Amino acid sequence: MAEEKRKRGRPRKNPEPVVEAAEKPVRRRGRPPKNRVQETAITPEKLVYKTENAWDNKSMSERQIEKFCKGYKAFLDKAKTEREFVREAEELAIANGFIDLDKSLSENASLNPGDKVYRIVKKKLIMLAVIGKKPCEEGTKMVGAHIDAPRVDIKQNPLYESTDMVFFKTHYYGGIKKYQWLTIPLALHGTIMKADGSVIDISIGEDPGDPVFTMTDLLPHLAKDQMEKKLSEAFKGEAMNVLVGSRPDPDKNAKDRFKLNILKILNEKYGITEEDFISSELEMVPAFKAQDLGFDRSMIGAYGHDDRVCAYPALMAILDTKKPEYTAVCVLTDKEEIGSVGNTGAQSRALENFLADLCALTTQGDYSDRLLRSCLDRSKMLSADVNAALDPNFEGTHDKLNAAYLGKGLAILKFSGSRGKSGASDAHAEFVGEIRRLFNENQIPWHTTELGAVDKGGGGTIAMMIANLGVDVLDVGVPVLSMHSPFEVVSKADVYAAYKGYYVFIK
Ligand code: MN
Ligand code: MN
Repeated sequence: MAEEKRKRGRPRKNPEPVVEAAEKPVRRRGRPPKNRVQETAITPEKLVYKTENAWDNKSMSERQIEKFCKGYKAFLDKAKTEREFVREAEELAIANGFIDLDKSLSENASLNPGDKVYRIVKKKLIMLAVIGKKPCEEGTKMVGAHIDAPRVDIKQNPLYESTDMVFFKTHYYGGIKKYQWLTIPLALHGTIMKADGSVIDISIGEDPGDPVFTMTDLLPHLAKDQMEKKLSEAFKGEAMNVLVGSRPDPDKNAKDRFKLNILKILNEKYGITEEDFISSELEMVPAFKAQDLGFDRSMIGAYGHDDRVCAYPALMAILDTKKPEYTAVCVLTDKEEIGSVGNTGAQSRALENFLADLCALTTQGDYSDRLLRSCLDRSKMLSADVNAALDPNFEGTHDKLNAAYLGKGLAILKFSGSRGKSGASDAHAEFVGEIRRLFNENQIPWHTTELGAVDKGGGGTIAMMIANLGVDVLDVGVPVLSMHSPFEVVSKADVYAAYKGYYVFIK
C-alpha cells in the first residue's frame, strides 16, 4: 500500500534530475573534490535533535517578551475565574472590532473574509473567529484552551459556626493537593442569583483594603498523628472549611450569634439571605497577584497559569489575526479540570454549533449539514494547554529525553493519556510534522514532550474531545512548575513563544 501511494504522488515536472542521477556514479569513482564534500555532508549539528533555550532565540527580543508578559500579568489579576476571563476577553474582542454573532448580526447577514465574530455561551465559554479567504467547509485553523482553573468552591448551604468562629463548607474543584491550599490568603469570587431573580457579582479580597479568608492547618507541635499519615489521608475534603468570621451579634440571647452576625453583614452589603447561597457559584481562589519571580525576573509566579498561560496568548493571537487563508478560530472552554463536561465544556456541542453558523454565514449556496461535517473533517487545532515542566527537585518523574522544560519554548505533546497510552489523544505524525515545520520556519522555540515518565501518572486535555469531531489536534502548550498549586510558575520567554506559535498557526 505504501508503495502504491508513493506512485500516486505528484509527478516530477522536470526531467533534469534523471540526468543528474546518471552523472553521479561517474563522480563516485574518483576521489571527490574536497570542497564538494563539505557542501553536501550533513554536519553533526544537523544530524542531532537539539532544543533551544527560548531566551537564546534570536527572533524574540527581551523587550517584546517583557511587554507581552506585562499584559498577561495584568489580565491574570483581572480574570481569576472562567466568568471573569470571558468578561475581560469580550471587552478586548469588542475593542478589536469583533462583533457578537448572536446579538449584532442582522437577519440576512453574511460573513466575508476578514470579518470578526464571537459567541459567548452561559457567560463561561467564548469562541472567536476571523473569517478566512477560503470557505469554512474547506476547514478552519483553531487554537483551543480552557479558562477554568483548580480552586475551592463554596457549597450551596455553606455557613456554620463552631467554637465562636464562622466557616464556609467547601468542595474543591479539579485535581489539587489539598494541603497546598491551607494557610494562604483566599479571595472570594462569584455570582449569586437572589430570590427576586436579580444577579450580583462578588469579588472580595483583591483590593488592598479588602479582607481575605483562609483555611487553617494544625500547628506542628500537635501534628504528631497528622505527620505519620499518608498525604492522601492526612487532609480531608470535609475539613477544608474557610474561616469567615469570629465576632458575635450583640444580642447575647440570639441563636448562633456568630453566624447571625455574618448573615447580617452579607445582607447589609449584598442584600442576600442564607437561601440565596443555593443559587450561587462562589469560588475561593488565592488572593495574591501575579508577580515577577527570580532576581532576573525571568519567570511569573501566579494562580491559574493552567490554563490562562495558553488561553491568553491564544486570545491575543486571534485578536491580532487580520485576513487569514483559512477561517481562524479561538475556543476558550470551561470545566476542563473536571472532565470538560456540561454545556460550557469541550464535550458540549458549542463548537459544532458555532462552526455550523460560520459555514451557514459564509457559504454561497444553501446551508446543509454536509458543510459542517466537511468543515470539521478538514479543520486543524492546536490544543493549547500547559505541560508539566521537569522539576529537578523531584527526580524520576520524567523521562529526561521526552520531558517538558521551563524556558525551552512551546512543549509539543504528541500523545497524552497514561499507563499504555490509555485515554490518549494521539496526534498523527503528519500533523506533528506540519507543526514542527511551521515552528522551525518561523523560529518558534519548541521541544517534544511527554506528560511524565511511563506509569508515573498522566493526564489529558480538551484534545481528545475535539479529535472526536474529526479535527486534527495536537497539544502545544507552556511548561509549568508546581502545576495545580495556588502559585504556579512559568517562564516569560515561554509565554511569548506561545503567542508567537499560536499566531503563526492561525494567521
Ligand atoms: Mn490545563
Ligand atoms: Mn489542569
